[in-house]
Amino acid sequence: MHCPACHTENAVEAVACSACGRALRSDAAEAVAAPPVAASRRSSSRRRRNANADDPSAINDSDNPAAWRAYRVSLWSLVPGLGLFLGPVAVLLGYRAMRSAGDDASARNRAKAAVLFGVLITLTQWLGVALMIYGWKK
Ligand SMILES: [Zn+2]
Repeated sequence: MHCPACHTENAVEAVACSACGRALRSDAAEAVAAPPVAASRRSSSRRRRNANADDPSAINDSDNPAAWRAYRVSLWSLVPGLGLFLGPVAVLLGYRAMRSAGDDASARNRAKAAVLFGVLITLTQWLGVALMIYGWKK
């Protein structure tokens, strides 16, 4: 068996390298090799998160799901009929996301857009309903 660490040839049934003592059985070698890989993956993700914290412009959109949710609801409220109810929901969610966005300018703008959409859609769709009812009564 070939030692992966020092390339010394060992007996096939050898559990550890005769030269450097490294575990040779594949399952043992994996157990030894796995922790450094996991640790380096963990540290790289931690580094990425730290970079985001240092640079506000690098904050990912997924960091403010509330603003995205409000925005998505406002888009769904464009569907005629759905907007009668989703419009006010978009306004509410957008308003709450706006207040919780803090220094995140992109999330705040998205939440603001959701509020604006929600108000416009609610007004136009309820106005449409009002006009329809007015038309029936005439
Ligand atoms: Zn070795």
